[in-house]
Amino acid sequence: MSKKIIIAIDGFSSCGKSTIAKDIARKIGYRYVDTGAMYRAVTLFFLNNQIEFHHLDLVNEALKNITINFRIDEITQSQITMMNGEDVEDIIRVNPRVAGAVSDVSALSEVRRFLVKQQQAMGFEKGIVMDGRDIGTVVFPEAELKLFITAEPNIRAQRRLDELKVKGQNTTFDEVLANLAKRDYIDSNREDSPLRKADDAIEIDNSFIDKEEQLDLIIKLVNERMGTAI
Ligand code: C5P
Repeated sequence: MSKKIIIAIDGFSSCGKSTIAKDIARKIGYRYVDTGAMYRAVTLFFLNNQIEFHHLDLVNEALKNITINFRIDEITQSQITMMNGEDVEDIIRVNPRVAGAVSDVSALSEVRRFLVKQQQAMGFEKGIVMDGRDIGTVVFPEAELKLFITAEPNIRAQRRLDELKVKGQNTTFDEVLANLAKRDYIDSNREDSPLRKADDAIEIDNSFIDKEEQLDLIIKLVNERMGTAI
C-alpha cells in the first residue's frame, strides 16, 4: 500500500490550478481543498458587513464570526463553499467586488493566520490536494509533491472569461486581464507569504498542453512520490 502524501499546488490566478487539483484528487481518491475559495468567502463577509479592511481590530472581531467549510453536492459531487452555513459557492466566484478586493484582504496577516491554521488542520492526516498561492511555501512546506502552475496571461484571461460567460457574467477580456494582472501583482508583492515558487516545486507551464496530457504527467509524479513517501 502506498503512503498518503500531501500535494501542494500553487501558481498565478486562473492557471487552471483548481481544475487540475480536482482531477488529481478524484483520480487518487484524495480530499481536495480550494484555499482561494476560503479567502474569497472572508472577502465576501467583509464586504457584506462593511468591515473596513484597514481597521485591524474590526478585522479580528469579524474573523471570530466567520466559519468556513466545504460540503459535497450529492448530485454533481462537486465541492460547495459554505460560509456560516450558507452556500456561497457561486457568489464568491462571480461577484466582481469579491474579485476586486480579495487580494487586499488576503494580504492581511490576521486573515492569513486565521485561514492557514484551518488549512494545516485539514492536512493533518495527509491524503490531500490543496491549491492556492502559499501552499508549498507556508501551509505545507514539507509537502511530498509541490507543483507550481503557470500559463501565459492572455491564455489565462481567455479561460477565465469563458468561465464567467458560462456563469452568465457580462464582462470583457480587458477587464478580466486587468483583474488577473492586479491580483498577481498584489499576491506576488505582499509582505506576508507572497506568491512564489517553492525551491523544490516542479513548474508546469500549461499554456499549450491539454488537460489530459497535464494530468498524465502529474499522476506519474504522484505515483513516484507515493512510492517514496515515508
Ligand atoms: O485561487 P483564487 O483565484 O480563487 O484566489 C483568490 C485570491 O485569494 C488570490 O488572488 C489571492 O489573493 C488569494 N489567495 C491567497 N492565498 C491562497 C489562495 C488564494 O492569498 N492560498
